[in-house]
Amino acid sequence: MKKKIMMSLFMVVTLLLGACSIGNDDSGTVDKDKVYKVGIDVTYPPFEYKDGDTYKGIDIDLINAIAKDQDFKIEFEAMDFGGIIPALQAKQLDIAIAGMSITPERKKIVDFSDPYFEAGLILVVKEDENTIKSVNDLKGKKVAVKKGTTGAKYATDNADKLGIEVTQFNDSPAMFQEVKNGNAAALIEDYPVISYANKQQNLGLKLVGDRLNGDNYGIAVLKGENEELLKKINKGLANLRESGEYDKIVDTYLK
Ligand code: GLN
Repeated sequence: MKKKIMMSLFMVVTLLLGACSIGNDDSGTVDKDKVYKVGIDVTYPPFEYKDGDTYKGIDIDLINAIAKDQDFKIEFEAMDFGGIIPALQAKQLDIAIAGMSITPERKKIVDFSDPYFEAGLILVVKEDENTIKSVNDLKGKKVAVKKGTTGAKYATDNADKLGIEVTQFNDSPAMFQEVKNGNAAALIEDYPVISYANKQQNLGLKLVGDRLNGDNYGIAVLKGENEELLKKINKGLANLRESGEYDKIVDTYLK
């Protein structure tokens, strides 16, 4: 008898504790007072960059506008691109917007918003380089890429086939410099980023050949735990597209 009472008491307590933890568990639901941490890669104009003390760019304006439209608070955390997905997994970040391409491999780890920008990879060489016209002319050469990117994946996946040596950098400017200095023969970067950088700065680089792939940028949250946040991000994005604000933001940087 006593045992039975103890057992029922134990069950009641367990149930209560369970109910409490459900009440406190904010995963999945969006808390208006919480400040959501957004991981960004500020070496990536026109999507994200630092101008003095402020962050600017298409991604910055988009996520700010989405948060405003959907009534949630955010703060930015700048880091190397390669650190962003690990930081999401470690729950040091809630959201990532970083010119991040939606890929099947990443989809296993994160949930992506609807696509918000069309991109894709392109080969880049020094301005006065005339023998390299496509990835098939890279045999025996060094190719610079940025850690954790789709460009790095393309280069390492095709290293044997193309006969290239891959060198990896933490950020885009370091990778650009490597080719400008002649330390690497080529680099692989997202088309919209390198074409913008090449116009804005005197990089001494040029784009060659066709795009190596086509992909789309998405906003990422940790997989399976942020359904409502993701819904809000998608709703906000759709609202911005509908109101014309999306175009306005893109035009601010890409006109
Ligand atoms: N779009 C590329 C990727 O997702 C590069 C992103 C970046 O360098 N910020 O891997």
